[in-house]
Amino acid sequence: MSKMILTAAILMIAIAFSGSGPYAWGDSFPSCHPLLEEHHSPINLDYHMTRNDSLEVLHLEGFDTAQTGQWTLKNNGHSVVLEVGSGMSVSGGGLPGVYHTIQLHFHWGSPSTNGSEHTVDRHRYPMEMHIINMKAIHPNLSAALDDPTGLAVLGFFIDLAYAENSHFGHIARKLSSVTYKGQATSIKPFPLISLLPEHNMSQYYRYHGSLTIPPCSQVVLWTIYEVPTYISWTQFDQFASGIFATEEDAEDMNPLQNNFRHVHPTFSRIVYASKDAKLLTDTAMFLFFVPTLGID
Ligand SMILES: [Zn+2]
Repeated sequence: MSKMILTAAILMIAIAFSGSGPYAWGDSFPSCHPLLEEHHSPINLDYHMTRNDSLEVLHLEGFDTAQTGQWTLKNNGHSVVLEVGSGMSVSGGGLPGVYHTIQLHFHWGSPSTNGSEHTVDRHRYPMEMHIINMKAIHPNLSAALDDPTGLAVLGFFIDLAYAENSHFGHIARKLSSVTYKGQATSIKPFPLISLLPEHNMSQYYRYHGSLTIPPCSQVVLWTIYEVPTYISWTQFDQFASGIFATEEDAEDMNPLQNNFRHVHPTFSRIVYASKDAKLLTDTAMFLFFVPTLGID
């Protein structure tokens, strides 16, 4: 029940703000105004991080098996959303409780621009996938949005390769059925872990932030994975050229592109690096070797 409410609410939110860009959201949603010291997302990730050795790999319950029933893929005019039904949850890795997995969706650029929401040293990846999870103790989204840690979102960068990602085919094959805003199709459940960088799941960053769509509620514990997953150029182009923000019978057809929110200041927030994250190590090595190269 609560998942249906969340799904409906997110759809209503998406309908409410479609047509106005992220910089204008504050006009309709005052909570989207990024005031000084507020905790908005996305952010740029850099070497200003604090290592936290207690941040170990998250427990992803049900991600390694195919769930029963049917999942639903939708074009809500702002993204392509996969509603995953019940049976999966995330916990551990410093999260304060169990969070039920609700849906995943994507942010992308265009055929010529990158479109991840978070950036790494100001580098924007071609795409970013978000897996949305709601704290299990809450009966509905309203309750979760009143809890500073009501949602846990897992963020994955998606880079491009020449080879197709066959696991991604579960979604890519169905994209032509959700070309236009409002369209939906069913998808046979598959093990969600197959979309993730399976061997690098202990490398991530953690910070407190917000939803990146209205109402921009500052209730999200973000887990951003360090190692990207890959899809092919062809698969990327299915998103960047083949999905529309407008309905099928619209007079002016608008491709759905660059559906990412702008980067926000971190302010005094601490961004944590998990026990196995590599970023800090790489930065330290770089600084160490620069003088040596100078001498040579
Ligand atoms: Zn998102």
